[in-house]
Amino acid sequence: MLLEDCRYDGSHRFDLSKYPTSAKTDKAKKAEYAELTAKNTQLMAELQEKLYAEGHEGVVIMLQAMDAAGKDSTIKHVMSGVNPQGVSVYSFKTPSKEELGHDYLWRAVKNLPQRGNIAIFNRSYYEDVLVVRVKDLRKTYAMPSRCLDESDDEFFDRRYRQIRDFEEYLWENGYRLLKIFLNVGMEEQKERFLARIDEPAKNWKFSPGDLDERALWPQYMDAFEKAIANTSTKHAPWYVIPADQKWYARWLVSEAVVGILKDCDPQFPEMSPEDRAKMAECRERLVNWK
Ligand code: AMP
Ligand code: MG
Repeated sequence: MLLEDCRYDGSHRFDLSKYPTSAKTDKAKKAEYAELTAKNTQLMAELQEKLYAEGHEGVVIMLQAMDAAGKDSTIKHVMSGVNPQGVSVYSFKTPSKEELGHDYLWRAVKNLPQRGNIAIFNRSYYEDVLVVRVKDLRKTYAMPSRCLDESDDEFFDRRYRQIRDFEEYLWENGYRLLKIFLNVGMEEQKERFLARIDEPAKNWKFSPGDLDERALWPQYMDAFEKAIANTSTKHAPWYVIPADQKWYARWLVSEAVVGILKDCDPQFPEMSPEDRAKMAECRERLVNWK
């Protein structure tokens, strides 16, 4: 399975069940893929330096998934090569009172990177069409009735449209988005939860509430399918990445990150003739410094 097979840009009907959770690759290839990932990590570092030096484009990498799909470890591994100066990570938690007092894109906007920088969103404003849809959280919103009166479909269709508009706005303002859904299977999630319960060093990652989310699996898949189907565009496609094998998912994510950085085509800034002359002067001065 290649990265291209994971890409969905909205040009045909989307059916999440057609996207595998397992890459079905030979486990014997694990070391090979780890090496390919390491090469991509190196490439990423080189591209990021140019992106930063040039300061023209901002990149947002968004990770969405069910629990235990590997969001945190993907962030840790895939980004291990980049210079922390120039990269930020922001985790979207249950919104605070202050956040709920604003529109749902507010905290995303607040955490956008400056151009030249990369922001990683661990979860994102997509939670506002995922968990909010599955758990019917809009019932709890303090908003005027004109914003809440419609059916579920109307309410969320409007949010999908707002998200498409927002993402196009970002594109038109010098940003690129990489939207990744780590598609883990229910069986694999069970194994990972069991490891979190059985291994003391992993206990902190588990909370009993995780099983309540798991119980809503079909509803979540439905919400993911609708969200991906309605917000994938030419400039902001989704990547549905099989996540049952972490080493394979990491390679695919590294391919996607390298891909988007290459699309930015960052270049070190060219010096003007005046700057070059000034540098030559400085050089003379330094050489003759007593
Ligand atoms: P974790 O990523 O495990 O730290 O959990 C963060 C939790 O915050 C998840 O259960 C998310 O579903 C929840 N969350 C994130 N954004 C929102 C949102 N906009 N509304 C409600 N819950 C959210
Ligand atoms: Mg959690």
